[in-house]
Amino acid sequence: MGKPTGFIEYLREVPSELSPSERIQNWDEFHLPMPEDKLRTQSARCMDCGTPFCHTGTVISGMASGCPINNLIPEWNDLVYRGLWEEALDRLHKTNNFPEFTGRVCPAPCEGSCVLGIHNPPVTIKNIECSIVDKGWDEGWITAEPPSKRTGKKVAIVGSGPAGLAAAAQLNKAGHWVTVYERADRPGGLLMYGIPNMKLDKQEVVLRRIQLLEQEGIKFVCNTEIGTDLPAETLLNEYDAVVLCTGATKPRDLPIEGRELSGIHFAMEFLTANTQTLLDGTGIPPISAQGKDVMIIGGGDTGTDCVGTSIRHGCKSLVQLEIMPKPPNERAANNPWPEWPKVYRMDYGQEEAAAKFGDDPRFYLTTATKFEGDEQGQVKAVHTVDIEWQKDEQGRFSPKPIAGTEKVIPTQLVLLAMGFLGPEQPLLDALGLERDARSNVKADYGQYETSLPGVFAAGDCRRGQSLVVWAINEGRGVARQCDLYLMGATDLP
Ligand SMILES: Cc1cc2nc3c(=O)[nH]c(=O)nc-3n(C[C@H](O)[C@H](O)[C@H](O)COP(=O)(O)OP(=O)(O)OC[C@H]3O[C@@H](n4cnc5c(N)ncnc54)[C@H](O)[C@@H]3O)c2cc1C
Ligand code: SF4
Repeated sequence: MGKPTGFIEYLREVPSELSPSERIQNWDEFHLPMPEDKLRTQSARCMDCGTPFCHTGTVISGMASGCPINNLIPEWNDLVYRGLWEEALDRLHKTNNFPEFTGRVCPAPCEGSCVLGIHNPPVTIKNIECSIVDKGWDEGWITAEPPSKRTGKKVAIVGSGPAGLAAAAQLNKAGHWVTVYERADRPGGLLMYGIPNMKLDKQEVVLRRIQLLEQEGIKFVCNTEIGTDLPAETLLNEYDAVVLCTGATKPRDLPIEGRELSGIHFAMEFLTANTQTLLDGTGIPPISAQGKDVMIIGGGDTGTDCVGTSIRHGCKSLVQLEIMPKPPNERAANNPWPEWPKVYRMDYGQEEAAAKFGDDPRFYLTTATKFEGDEQGQVKAVHTVDIEWQKDEQGRFSPKPIAGTEKVIPTQLVLLAMGFLGPEQPLLDALGLERDARSNVKADYGQYETSLPGVFAAGDCRRGQSLVVWAINEGRGVARQCDLYLMGATDLP
């Protein structure tokens, strides 16, 4: 423990960021680096708890409490306080292959369960993590470390999101020849074509790490959809094991009147096209919010990313519908520490909308009932109604419209961001894999083996749409199990 009285002496301080009105002028990341002396002060707030809940990674009430990859948080807080940055980086990499991703995009369940958070603002764990790894890259401490021996075994990984990348990194470390197949034109999964550039830079952060993995011997084959461009059997015949990390990319639809009108898109169509246009440098994206009244249906992370993207396009107005109630400002009595705090937050997109249009764009307890079109079949308005959640005879809650609250909101672009329904099924059908009740690949957590011997599954295609940190957890876990299957023993953590 760096400084025993740090938690009493110092207040929590988060990194400065560009103001919303400045940052919406471009697609760059907007958090500013924190000076080293301030980072030391922040790490000194860590109490080096006897039972550090920050790194437990247990699931309570369906949400992660503590770090799902068990980051050695008190250890690297102490090392940062003592100025031992390279050692801190080493501790960080022991549990996390990609701290520069989680340090930028993780919602930080570690901070939600930090013991200091019981009566004070928690330690700024996420910012310290990000600062350690950013310094590691800046100083040139992060270099390719190819394995010294090869086993001669070949593993195919399908999907290059964080689960596929973590599995690839670990299996390569164990000495296997790893090939990652990706249907998109660039690797990274939702790190590349989901989370927008202002949250996670594609060239400087995502591709930098992927290039390092290539230097370590991992082969990436893009523009290749397994099951379409290359039959699944080819992988079964040519590789010693196959790991599916195909994500949970089937979007939830809203089949109400007028759904067929043009101008209504799934969020991922909008976000993917935007990042692709940005990276290709081809000008205006095919789905643009410029000059339009935009409605985003869904109040989660994906919806927030649509808010930030629409604002950067220059939308005329913006409304975000959320069917759930507005969360409380403080933890509710039924949501105690160390659970993930379900409290009201202004995320970056809502902050930007408030700066531009004067208010948080979210309408809570509201749903869309009808899309109205013009003569050309283009959406021109959305009919909405307020709802209340009522219990039915079986005790299940369902939304009931409140008469007299109907509105018609002029809208020329609708983005559907209502979550995901599981993995796409054709490849899983082609392999004849068993599914669970939610259409995910059936493979026990911790084992990851599917109903087909030698075929493993990890990440969102196994657990449903989740978080980058869980994908890394599963990618590491599946690598261990796959190594065990191939070699009969494993040294992977
Ligand atoms: C818009 C958005 C924003 C998000 N923001 C955050 C955030 O801020 N923080 C956070 O922690 N989580 C966030 N998430 C969730 C997080 O991105 C996912 O949980 C995580 O990426 C899952 O990783 P994965 O590797 O399992 O799958 P994915 O990242 O979905 O990757 C799967 C890959 O498999 C490829 N693929 C699928 N089928 C095939 C096939 N047959 N052949 C070849 N390739 C195939 C896909 O093209 C894709 O690249 C966000 C999700 C979305 C949609
Ligand atoms: S719970 Fe908080 S104070 Fe305790 S060791 Fe973890 S980061 Fe430090």
